[in-house]
Amino acid sequence: MNTREMFAKAIKGGYAIPAFNFNNMEQLQAIIKASAETKSPVILQVSKGARNYANQTLLRYMAQGAVEYAKELGWEKPQIVLHLDHGDSFELCKSCVDFGFSSVMIDASHLPYEENIALTKKVVDYAHQFDVTVEAELGVLAGVEDEVSSAVSHYTKPEEVVDFATRTGCDSLAISIGTSHGAYKFTPEQCTRDPKTGKLVPPPLAFDVLDAIMEQLPGFPIVLHGSSSVPQEYVDIINENGGKLPDAVGIPEEQLRKASKSAVCKINIDSDSRLAFTAAVRKVLTDKPGEFDPRKYCGVARDWMEDLYKHKIVNVLGSDGKA
Ligand SMILES: [Zn+2]
Repeated sequence: MNTREMFAKAIKGGYAIPAFNFNNMEQLQAIIKASAETKSPVILQVSKGARNYANQTLLRYMAQGAVEYAKELGWEKPQIVLHLDHGDSFELCKSCVDFGFSSVMIDASHLPYEENIALTKKVVDYAHQFDVTVEAELGVLAGVEDEVSSAVSHYTKPEEVVDFATRTGCDSLAISIGTSHGAYKFTPEQCTRDPKTGKLVPPPLAFDVLDAIMEQLPGFPIVLHGSSSVPQEYVDIINENGGKLPDAVGIPEEQLRKASKSAVCKINIDSDSRLAFTAAVRKVLTDKPGEFDPRKYCGVARDWMEDLYKHKIVNVLGSDGKA
């Protein structure tokens, strides 16, 4: 399905739809199990990095298989979107539309404003012929995600959003209010340090900018990228088992919970599942140095990711029971 009805319900209901990236079978199984068990609508995202890693054709049929798997798990009418994350050209978006994706993102946020509008509109005009929904982006996020990176962030300008949404016809808008891609969302200099624990405390999201955008575009679906929380428990397990992730820091979950209750109806979470996977694999291999069956550590990683996804659905986004 596409995102239109899903987002309308989420805005009305005061929750957000999880958008989880997948690159492999274990991740997809964990996403589907968590969504089926909690009856949460879910967006499966395919990034450029995922297509390079796993092959676009394979990922597309894995998603189709996931729908059947969800039904086998007892989810009678699975509400699953297959979405292109950070499409960077008309040709790529077109190929995903032609290939059966139900939603695409065209990210032309790095281009000058008028060029962003022109490219986004071109994708919208094509995608809408096939009832495929389009996410656009205005403003620039900092951080590194696969092949998307920027050293600095520029908050979305509220005075531009009506003009942009009207002229492009996009179905949802990814905005920049201080979220960031990757596991190092902020430099230590941007943070304060908790005097008790010595841990970094990130700067708060710009809710004033979000409020101003919602005032300009009442009821319009808003998307947050780069919204992993970088749970300290995973970072600690990774570091205790031979890893090296000093000062990794994410977006506190209570800020995402607050955003979920607003017109923010899609929240992208990728890094947290990478951390859960890596923490599990490192721990199993440290505890059992003789293990060489990938199912024995990837299986544990899958369980940890499933727990993480359920936690996000139930405790952060509030999308459980909505599908
Ligand atoms: Zn992103």
